[in-house]
Amino acid sequence: MSLDQFRLDGKVALVTGGNRGIGLAISRLFGKAGAQVMVNGRTRNAFVDELCASDAYGWSQGDVTDPATPDRIVEETLDRFGRIDILVNNAGIADNGDFHDFGDDRLAAITDTNFIAPFRIARAAVKQMLTQGGGAILNIGSISAEVANQPQLQVAYNASKAAVHQMTKVMAFEYAARGIRVNALAPGYVVSDMTAGGIANEAWNKVWTENTPMRRFGQPEEMANCALFLCSPASSYVTGSVLVADGGYLTH
Ligand code: NDP
Repeated sequence: MSLDQFRLDGKVALVTGGNRGIGLAISRLFGKAGAQVMVNGRTRNAFVDELCASDAYGWSQGDVTDPATPDRIVEETLDRFGRIDILVNNAGIADNGDFHDFGDDRLAAITDTNFIAPFRIARAAVKQMLTQGGGAILNIGSISAEVANQPQLQVAYNASKAAVHQMTKVMAFEYAARGIRVNALAPGYVVSDMTAGGIANEAWNKVWTENTPMRRFGQPEEMANCALFLCSPASSYVTGSVLVADGGYLTH
């Protein structure tokens, strides 16, 4: 047994939505663990500039809901680094509101970003991983897939994340014997632009905190630690799992 099992030396990772929030923390940590990392996002920002100062990082711009993007970002990863060992399907959006007022455009945006895009990107990555003899895929799901009693109303979001969890399990079953492990991470309430600028408000923050046994929100870096475990050889016998990282929220 060695701590080297937590390292990613020689591995190539593609992280969608790796330019900020949880994805940025994952991109940073994977690089520190020795991986070469292709960072995807819609917008190149200062964080990406900082990462790409190192040759270990590449930038693959693209809106993952564009049907052409999934194959292209996998191809760009291969062009740049020659292989793909790890895919982190992290890009996601949230939208909340009454079910009866949730229009088709909003439903399509959630579904396209949170479920269809990860499906397509994983499909492209798996084709390559099969030729390489294995790989690791991590889908970022959510505890929202498992609960209904959240302070905010997010039927479409929660359902999209439930689809991600189920996709994870079925893919894991299909590819276990061919060396591709597929797992999901289900964060609780994590501090990011999504929660600070988009879906949160004072009242929700209070309810989330009160219902989280650890009485605090998670940090992106804490999610990255879980991601590293699930994508490194340290989790070599783990596939089809949904790792919950929620400060204990799902215990009640
Ligand atoms: P942020 O809003 O901070 O970041 C979202 C990321 O997704 C950005 O990098 C963004 O890129 C990218 N993204 C969104 N839409 C697209 C798109 N169409 N194409 C390409 N990239 C896109 O969110 P978080 O970091 O908080 O969330 C990351 C993941 O974790 C999501 O899947 C989310 O559902 C999940 N999650 C988050 C929780 C939380 O409490 N924060 C809880 C549970 C799950 P760009 O900057 O270019 O827009």
